[in-house]
Amino acid sequence: MNIIIFGPQGSGKGTQADLLSEKYNLEHIETGQIFREIGRENSELGKKIKDLNDRKEMIPDDVTVEVLREKLKVVPIDMGIILDSAPRTAGQVEPIEQMLAELRRPIDKAIYISLPYEESIARITKRYACTVCYRHFVLGLHIHETEEPCPTCGGPIMQRADDTPDGVTKRLKTFYEITIPVVDEYRERGMLIEVDGNQSKEKVFEDINQKLLNC
Ligand SMILES: [Zn+2]
Repeated sequence: MNIIIFGPQGSGKGTQADLLSEKYNLEHIETGQIFREIGRENSELGKKIKDLNDRKEMIPDDVTVEVLREKLKVVPIDMGIILDSAPRTAGQVEPIEQMLAELRRPIDKAIYISLPYEESIARITKRYACTVCYRHFVLGLHIHETEEPCPTCGGPIMQRADDTPDGVTKRLKTFYEITIPVVDEYRERGMLIEVDGNQSKEKVFEDINQKLLNC
């Protein structure tokens, strides 16, 4: 099974993608994470991506497609994939589907986890990350004070630079302007499963599974 998952920041799509990858033996391909990793490499591509990230510019579509291709090529053929945050723009839909066709991994379903705008803001401004092991934590859930060390490795934690209210507003604006047209396209093709993200993560997962099996 090959799936794409969409949702605004804070919708819990990363968590749902992890749960789905475990249940259905899928490789979770998170493009944001992949780009952050490559951006730390001392390679030509790494420098280019770090530079784009520092300037808060979008990675060009052709670079996204090539990075995904390299990542997907090494996924065992008996495993499905769950693409998280790609295609991210209408312009990426065709080249990514073309690349997936070449790798014989056509998309079966797209999942969209919706969340009200205000709820996204409220959830994201509570997110912190470890500066050493890069794990994510939620203030009030995993950690209780902003000065606490990382519960996993003891390293210093900080709010992600773009998780400030300004950064969040900007990223949400990008999501609704740039990615929602992609979601609309999958809906028009009858490939979209839509679930309400404003519920517990267990209920969201249950809804996704029920809709996946009913189609
Ligand atoms: Zn840590």
